[in-house]
Amino acid sequence: MKTKAAVLWGLHEKWQVEEVELDGPKENEVLVKLTASGLCHSDEHLVTGDIPMPFPMVGGHEGAGIVVEVGSEVKHVAEGDSVVLSFLPACGRCSYCARGMQNLCDLGATILDGMLPDGTYRFHENGEDLGGMCMLGTFSEYSTISENSAIKVDPDLPLDKVVLIGCGVPTGFGSAVHAAATEPGDTIAIYGIGGIGINSVQGAALAGARNVVAIDPLANKREAAEQLGATHSCATAEEAQELITQLTRGVGADKAIVTVGVVTSEVVTNAFNAIRKGGTVVVTGLADPTKNTIELPGAILTLFEKRIQGSLFGSGDPFADIPRMVELYQSGDLKLDELITSTYTLDEVNQGYQDLLDGKNIRGVILYDS
Ligand SMILES: [Zn+2]
Ligand SMILES: [Zn+2]
Repeated sequence: MKTKAAVLWGLHEKWQVEEVELDGPKENEVLVKLTASGLCHSDEHLVTGDIPMPFPMVGGHEGAGIVVEVGSEVKHVAEGDSVVLSFLPACGRCSYCARGMQNLCDLGATILDGMLPDGTYRFHENGEDLGGMCMLGTFSEYSTISENSAIKVDPDLPLDKVVLIGCGVPTGFGSAVHAAATEPGDTIAIYGIGGIGINSVQGAALAGARNVVAIDPLANKREAAEQLGATHSCATAEEAQELITQLTRGVGADKAIVTVGVVTSEVVTNAFNAIRKGGTVVVTGLADPTKNTIELPGAILTLFEKRIQGSLFGSGDPFADIPRMVELYQSGDLKLDELITSTYTLDEVNQGYQDLLDGKNIRGVILYDS
């Protein structure tokens, strides 16, 4: 079949919205008609090379839609089901899944190549294979994906809102709840309030943090953070350091979470300096993987037993966390509607990323015709 998709053909290029060929579902795969796709910063990382992926690539890895066709052996979803797509597949059987680390599932090995688990591609154009970002490619009206990437949700849910539970929400929320293991009474510092950081704010607040300090240079981001659970907000790391010192009587934050768009040594150093002895810095944002991007005083790490913890998909399990976050949204505890600051058509994808880079959006979302 044909589908309209936004394709990236090379570094520093614009997304090209064009018609591409899409194969139907093979064994353990499903064809999804997308309702919505979030504009996550990670797709911009493809453009800049901060996430190295082969081109051409159909972008988008935060999606929700309806299953319109299932391949053979599909067991978990059926035609007509509403699904949220997880940017990480989880097989449930590999050694990592078996040990409860579903976010590190071996099936994730090829997400940067954009092929499906059997090693082949579903998107094509003029005889050339096109990858799908994170085995999804949600910047497309339709996509064929592994059933291990599709999480069934209630049919009455607004897919244009719960779409955020495919990447930004579980990543941010889980960074605070799982990776930072926020406890009641904690002081949590969150560096960078975008589509990820705002959900770390929500996670930390829901987990019972006493102080949630949101740090972002942009006033609209700080305002959003304060509406969604931050007890304090600061424009700079220096300001935050001073505030945290005061709030904790000189002890320091229990945990700091770094969710800025591109992680620098400076921001990790700031977070490292803001935490107490035995505290943890969770690094959720990305940076150029070919370079050493973090430099810290090792003696302080040792003597103060500070921890640096990387976090992927909020260190959670897509098949447990996505349904849980849907329930929190349904109960009104987790806010999603408030996170969506602009909507776009697929043709407007480049404008959406310009708005993201200009700091206008908490989360922009592409809506497809239903
Ligand atoms: Zn993402
Ligand atoms: Zn697995």
